[in-house]
Amino acid sequence: MSWSFETDSEFQEKLDWIDTFVREECEPLDLVFRGAGDPWDPDSPAAAAMAPLKEIVKEKRLWACHLGPELGGEGYGQVKLGLMNEILGRSRFAPSVFGTQAPDSGNAEILAHFGTDHQKAKYLQPLLDGKIASCYSMTEPQAGSDPAQFTCTATRDGDEWVINGEKWFASHARFSEFLLVMVVTNTEVPIHEGASIILVEKGTPGMDIMRNTAVGPYVEQGNGVHGYIRFTDCRVPADHLLGEEGQGFLVAQTRLGGGRVHHAMRSVGVLQKAMDMMCERVLSRTTKGELLSTKQMTQDKIADCYTQVFQYRLHVLYTAWLIDKHKEYNREVRKEIAAIKAATPKVLQEVIYRVMQLHGSIGVSDETPLMNMWANIPELGMVDGPSEVHKVTVARTILRDYEAAPGLFPTYHTHTQRELAMKKYGHFLPDEK
Ligand SMILES: Cc1cc2nc3c(=O)[nH]c(=O)nc-3n(C[C@H](O)[C@H](O)[C@H](O)COP(=O)(O)OP(=O)(O)OC[C@H]3O[C@@H](n4cnc5c(N)ncnc54)[C@H](O)[C@@H]3O)c2cc1C
Repeated sequence: MSWSFETDSEFQEKLDWIDTFVREECEPLDLVFRGAGDPWDPDSPAAAAMAPLKEIVKEKRLWACHLGPELGGEGYGQVKLGLMNEILGRSRFAPSVFGTQAPDSGNAEILAHFGTDHQKAKYLQPLLDGKIASCYSMTEPQAGSDPAQFTCTATRDGDEWVINGEKWFASHARFSEFLLVMVVTNTEVPIHEGASIILVEKGTPGMDIMRNTAVGPYVEQGNGVHGYIRFTDCRVPADHLLGEEGQGFLVAQTRLGGGRVHHAMRSVGVLQKAMDMMCERVLSRTTKGELLSTKQMTQDKIADCYTQVFQYRLHVLYTAWLIDKHKEYNREVRKEIAAIKAATPKVLQEVIYRVMQLHGSIGVSDETPLMNMWANIPELGMVDGPSEVHKVTVARTILRDYEAAPGLFPTYHTHTQRELAMKKYGHFLPDEK
């Protein structure tokens, strides 16, 4: 049996290098480039600043480590990726500098599995090289969590698909070379058998981005990166269908499972960064003649933060280990992914709130990274599906291993159990006088 919590020294050296590189080269980018799309938009001024950093990462053989060697990655597996992502989570730019940014990471996996040779040549390589951006568009304005309400359709007409309908919150659509769009191709069957994914190239006539929604408080309204798109008789070639017709959700699973774990891994990095700030602050600030760190109510907060982050981190790494073990997103893996997905906003909310509280006024100001961290929490409870839906997955999977009690009273009913236990061991009791 093997059961280890240790990182081998060779990989630890890589992690140490990544840690220094992220602190010295990536975190400063966060302070300079503050546009909503800067880490992902190939035309943003940040792209030029990131280019040499990407080359260094590639030389170090740390580029796109979520991918297997056949796609130019290192094939490290999810546990090593988790340890890396914890560090990358410190910076908004670091995932892009290391070639693991969402949604491109998942989209590349879909293209690699289901794209034609032509699509791979045209889009996959530049995407893997970090030269272009891509978009995954599934949510509609009237329905996100419930795909059964999707109405954006694609109808076959000769050698083409004709798309009609609307999509909402299509992240990075405005600077993407292509979009992977979930469309209903058969309205006669349940959505999980009637939806398909179609590749739509940038500039295809009939695809219009009506506006770009922003999240968080710091972006000018209308200047966000989440596209509200209308398709009107938008024609794409028949071979732009990825995977089989009606297999859209199966194809989507290729990307969504991994994406959710990666968000959680990066959130560990955010939490650790917040805790570092908290510990420095309470050792630096005095009130009523003593350091904040000596007050028991501060120690209570530190201990709670530590325990929560540690538990969450172990759960994330355990899930990563499980994916490496099973090498697929089976039911057991999906349960853990759903559990950490639902836990993410909760643990961030509780930990970051304490850290802000201990910082006093500066903690709620725009003079530390804390307010940005705080503003990002609600979107983590929503992106890739709301917490409620993931909790349903967790609960349903857990309940599959149980069944109802056969009789009126529970199987653990003490009275009944004691009667049985007395039959077994009662004769050892001293006789009552
Ligand atoms: C920052 C960000 C980026 C995103 N990027 C993309 C993207 O690139 N591509 C894309 O396709 N989508 C994207 N989305 C959309 C995201 O996937 C949806 O927001 C999400 O699936 C929820 O859909 P909705 O917004 O329509 O909310 P709704 O489906 O209307 O749900 C609203 C609320 O209802 C409750 N609820 C919903 N279902 C249940 C249930 N079964 N049981 C109990 N309560 C329930 C929950 O409280 C939920 O938060 C993004 C969202 C955000 C915030």
